[in-house]
Amino acid sequence: MQAQDAISVTRSLLRFDTVNPPGRERDCARYAGAMLEEWGYEVQYHEYSDSRTSVIARAGGSDKKAPLCLTGHLDVVPLGARSWSKDPFSGESDGDRLYGRGASDMKAGVAAILLAARSYAKALKNTPGIVIVLTAAEEGGCVGSAQLAKTELLGKAGAMIVGEPTSNYPLVGHKGSVKFHAHFKGVSAHGSMPELGVNAIYKAAAAAAKLEKFDFGVKPHAVMGKPTLNVGTIEGGNTVNAVPDAARIGVDIRTVPGMDHEALLSRMRTTLGDAELEVFSNLKPVWTAPDDEWVQRVFEICRPYLSEPPAARTAPYMTDAANLLKVYVGAPTVVLGPGEAAMAHQTDEYVSMERIRQSVAIYESLIRDWCRP
Ligand SMILES: [Zn+2]
Repeated sequence: MQAQDAISVTRSLLRFDTVNPPGRERDCARYAGAMLEEWGYEVQYHEYSDSRTSVIARAGGSDKKAPLCLTGHLDVVPLGARSWSKDPFSGESDGDRLYGRGASDMKAGVAAILLAARSYAKALKNTPGIVIVLTAAEEGGCVGSAQLAKTELLGKAGAMIVGEPTSNYPLVGHKGSVKFHAHFKGVSAHGSMPELGVNAIYKAAAAAAKLEKFDFGVKPHAVMGKPTLNVGTIEGGNTVNAVPDAARIGVDIRTVPGMDHEALLSRMRTTLGDAELEVFSNLKPVWTAPDDEWVQRVFEICRPYLSEPPAARTAPYMTDAANLLKVYVGAPTVVLGPGEAAMAHQTDEYVSMERIRQSVAIYESLIRDWCRP
């Protein structure tokens, strides 16, 4: 194992089928955990559900300063309807490209974290150290990390790197999200006598129309811009000749820093009248001011690998950071990894092998910087 480089580790990770659903991250998690253990890390496992394993590994630690967290997810999205021209699970390469489901999102990022961890395995004693969090069940709502954040396993962290695909460009956060179903009730009647019933679909449709014009009343965030709202689903009724007594809409709101999710939900309840709201995802935005001292160090360390000096930018997608920050409260956080964001969830997904090597070097520098005496 010692001889493995970042590319061969990425390849090994790609060979585990961790497509979510169903997930089955266990073998991949045990593989990564076994390597970390061999290098001297203290490794713990957590099962989100059967066969769905997350890994928490740490080395070093001091009373003066909390460790640096490096995190990534082990699951990948399904292959999609279009057929692949490369084997999604064998780690085929072509020139600088390494193909596979999860190559960019984000097994390359996990491999880079592992390799950087290996470099410092012996050197972290009596330093703040690092904590590595490899999660199950990230795709489709970050539910694995949500559960992990309710355990005692995460411990402390003073700063966090999320290895999601950014082409090694450090991003200082992402929007938050609130997702819910609004259930509307009506009274059933025969379709020929609608005046005897109350039509739940009319209620849902009227609510959707109100939401289309919903005004958040907040100033656009300097970097993330405006919050957004989308009604993504509408369901209701059983048959065309009856007044429907139930309907629901599915709503996806993306929030920006400074917005209070509870206040927002209470406005939603008012706007939607007698609807019953079933909130199934509620994650705050992730944002670290770009002038934060550590973020400035990250910018400096990444600069040689970029064509321009880094500026304050944020990711278009959600990450586990929203959950991990419930425990690592206030830790400055960057999203920074070797994958290409545009490749995430695509057919014939690939990653640049050169970027994986650069990512290992960047993570090593960040660990060294955090743990220097
Ligand atoms: Zn991802």
